[in-house]
Amino acid sequence: ATQVVRDVHRVMGQADEARRMEVRANADTPEDAARARRFGAQGIGLCRTEHMFLGDRRSLVEAMILAHDDEEREAALNALLPLQRADFIGILEAMDGLPVTIRLLDPPLHEFLPDLTELSVRVARDEALGRQPDLHETELLAAVTRMHEANPMLGLRGVRLGLVVPGLVAMQVRAVAEAVVARKRAGGDPQAEIMVPLVDAVEEFRLVRAEVARVLERVSAGTGVALGCPVGTMIELPRAALTAGSIAEDAEFFSLGTNDLTQTTWGFSRDDVEAAFFSAYLDKGIFQTSPFETIDREGVGRLVEIAVAEGRATRPGLNIGVCGEHGGDPQSVHFFHDTGLDYVSCSPFRVPVARLEAGRAALRATEAQAGR
Ligand code: PEP
Ligand code: MG
Repeated sequence: ATQVVRDVHRVMGQADEARRMEVRANADTPEDAARARRFGAQGIGLCRTEHMFLGDRRSLVEAMILAHDDEEREAALNALLPLQRADFIGILEAMDGLPVTIRLLDPPLHEFLPDLTELSVRVARDEALGRQPDLHETELLAAVTRMHEANPMLGLRGVRLGLVVPGLVAMQVRAVAEAVVARKRAGGDPQAEIMVPLVDAVEEFRLVRAEVARVLERVSAGTGVALGCPVGTMIELPRAALTAGSIAEDAEFFSLGTNDLTQTTWGFSRDDVEAAFFSAYLDKGIFQTSPFETIDREGVGRLVEIAVAEGRATRPGLNIGVCGEHGGDPQSVHFFHDTGLDYVSCSPFRVPVARLEAGRAALRATEAQAGR
């Protein structure tokens, strides 16, 4: 067994020496971050902050989104701030010295709000039984009905939420900034980056970016600590890929969200890929593997190539990675190498495979060149 371990280490060492792309991990807890680091991750390419708003914190998120007035919303945001700050301190500590890309909140709304059907049934039952309707429940039902969406994955998510809920972006950015200050004061080397999700249009990014800059300046002025957090964007909608040239005027890095890009390019629901038609499509050979697993070069891959070319035409040397599931898929890793990405980011357990394939892709490209 020890010989096998030695062989694995030798091969991984060779792959690391050969590869051009960095390998980061998608993680949102200090435990996952530490595990990713042990597997050789060179940073966190995607920290999904929505996972930090579940469990006990759901009621605060609900209060923030459904607040009656500014006061109620501010109270919810103030309660969330120290929790978020502690989350970020933990992750930055686990990844000390390495980049950590923290993405602003991107939940499909239905994951946070009470279930409309359940709530309606409860209120209707009270009414049918002649019970005095619970005022809170009636109000909640009205609010949830107002916010209800038929297609939450195409609804009030990502940057859209940040633009319509006052104070949300500021709270998250303040938590990041204060976590950076805390880590620096503790003698650490925090490398936080801030990423905006689900951008369609450069105007959305500009508005959020201005708010991010204001908050960073405020925290920096208040603490006397310099905060140089790069601010970048996800490219995960076809429109963003096609207009990447103008988005790159403002964005300091791109991260390709190939999960949403696959969903929106094909028009297939990410949440329903197990649906009957998908296996029929595989059986009929319409595709060999699920496009959610392996990058579809002719469609989604073309949009990736366009985003890379347009982005770097505007901003030469623009740092570009991928953080969709494809970042840990062997065949897709080869495609990303060929496309000139700087890094792939995948789940911690796939980091070794991504390192290996990134090395193989680089060697294959060198051999092909020598052959020519
Ligand atoms: C993506 O869409 O590829 C992505 C990484 O973001 P999420 O999976 O969180 O939507
Ligand atoms: Mg996404």
